This record gives sequence, structure tokens and C-alpha cells, in this order.
Amino acid sequence: MPLPPKLSDEERKHALELAKKARQERAHYKNELNRGQMTLGTFISIAAENEVLGKMRVAELLESLPGYGKIRAHALMERFNISPTRRVQGLGHHQRSALLREFEIPSTQTRGKLLVLSGPGGVGKSSVAKALRDTPGFWVSVSATTRAPRFNEIDGVDYFFFSNEEFDKAIAENRFLEWAEFAGNRYGTPKAAVESTLASGIHVLLEIEIAGAKQVREQAQSAHLVFLEPPSWEELVSRLEGRGTDSPERRAARLALAQEELAAAPFFDTVIVNERVEDVVASLIRLASL
Ligand code: 5GP
Repeated sequence: MPLPPKLSDEERKHALELAKKARQERAHYKNELNRGQMTLGTFISIAAENEVLGKMRVAELLESLPGYGKIRAHALMERFNISPTRRVQGLGHHQRSALLREFEIPSTQTRGKLLVLSGPGGVGKSSVAKALRDTPGFWVSVSATTRAPRFNEIDGVDYFFFSNEEFDKAIAENRFLEWAEFAGNRYGTPKAAVESTLASGIHVLLEIEIAGAKQVREQAQSAHLVFLEPPSWEELVSRLEGRGTDSPERRAARLALAQEELAAAPFFDTVIVNERVEDVVASLIRLASL
């Protein structure tokens, strides 16, 4: 067997960093599966487009389902003739269909509600979305973007980081529920995961900018559109200026845009002022139950 190439210290560090992010990504999805916030069908549709998840072993996936330990997962794999080392992306067509059938959601299941959280950049949408991720019965959609990852972001958890070509392909194949350009990058909501999650009775939150929210209104009339407002303009400015992750040019562009965005509030079903994240989360939970 040829020896693996010798890596420089820099390359080794990079490889370790990638491995760490892949572990975090897998842990994130296993946790969502385990808490019943994500169905097997949703996971499989996401894994078809994501290498880290596609490479997860089927055994590891099944063991993370609620009520499925090693023994039950193993028995199921034997029943469907899935080898113990098989990875999700290596599942044959019949094996995949058999697994999906096993975990099929009854058609009598009440659909989850689609909530769209929008508002000016810097208003705190992502903090709200992050807090809602821990709420049982809710799933926060992961968008695709052509923006470069920030240092603390994990592919597949914060966003699916797409090249321009990958994004073009997803548009051409009609894989987005909506997509829009924002501050020079494109962002889109993958449709399949949202659809299968709603069908399983779990509420879905999209945390997106305004043009995208308007598209959702056309695509899904039953969606509830929520506009998040800052307590004041000054508060919004200080939040945008305090963001250490953006360049000065990008911050200035975002401020100018935020001014335009604030005018879109009347288009939305509900306006919530972001005084405290916990209160916004409580309002969203209430809206989903209406
Ligand atoms: P950021 O680059 O700061 O993560 O996000 C920039 C803007 O893009 C935010 O206003 C965020 O809500 C929005 N955004 C994130 N994902 C999507 C998406 O899938 N579709 C649309 N239309 N906007 C998105």
C-alpha cells in the first residue's frame, strides 16, 4: 500500500480542524434525530447532498434514533440486509426505500406549521433561531449559501456552504423553496427537508431575509410570516457595529440595507419587537400552536 502523503504542520492543523467540524456536524444531526426534531427521511434527503453526513455509518444513524440502541439498530440492518459497515451514501435503492417505509409518517399526522422569521440584518434573528433549535417539536431549517464560512461556522449546521456552480445547479433542479441575493451572496432554503419535516408534524422555522420571505408567501400560503423589529434604530446600529466578523465596507452596506428592510414590516402577518430572545421564542411557540 502506498504511504499517505506527508503533511506540513499547516496542512495537519487544517485536516484536524476539518475533522473536528465534521464530528460537530454529525453530533448536531444525531442530537436532532435523537430528540425527535428530525425524521430519518429528512436526514436521508439532506445526506444525499452532504458528504460528511453521507459518510456516516448507517448503524450510527439508526442508533441515534429515539428508542433505538445498538441491538435494535443491528436487528433492523440484518432484516434489510445492510452490512454493519455500510455508510448512508452507500445504501442501495431498495435498502433506502425499506428504511424510509419502516419510519414512514402516517398520512393522518397533522402537518407542522411553517414559520418564517425575517427582519433587518443585525436584529437578532439568528439568536432567536438558535434558541428555538432546543425546543422540542421545532426544527430550524439549514440554508444553503454561497457566502464563505465565518471562522466559527460549521458546514451543514450553520449553513450548507455551496460554490456558485452548486447553487446554480440547485436552482435549476428546483431544490429551493425560495432563494435570494443578499449583500453580494446568495442564500436559499432547501425544499425537501422542510417538506418532510412538516409532513412529520414538526414545526419548521426559516430564518431568512425579506425577499425570500415574500417568495415563501407565494409558495406556501399557510406559512406564518413574522417580522422581527429592533427596540430602536440606535440599538440596531450598535448591534451591526458590534459585529466583529464583518469588514467595515460590509457593515456599512448592511446598515444602508437595514434601513430599507425596516420598511417591509407591514407585509408580515405578525411583528415582534426583539426586547428579549426568550420572549420572542415564546411568541413563536404560541404562533405555531394557533
Ligand atoms: P448572514 O450572512 O449574516 O448569515 O445572513 C445574511 C442574511 O441572509 C440574513 O438576513 C439571513 O436571515 C438571510 N438568510 C439566511 N438564510 C437564508 C435563506 O435560505 N434564504 C434567504 N432568502 N435569506 C437567508
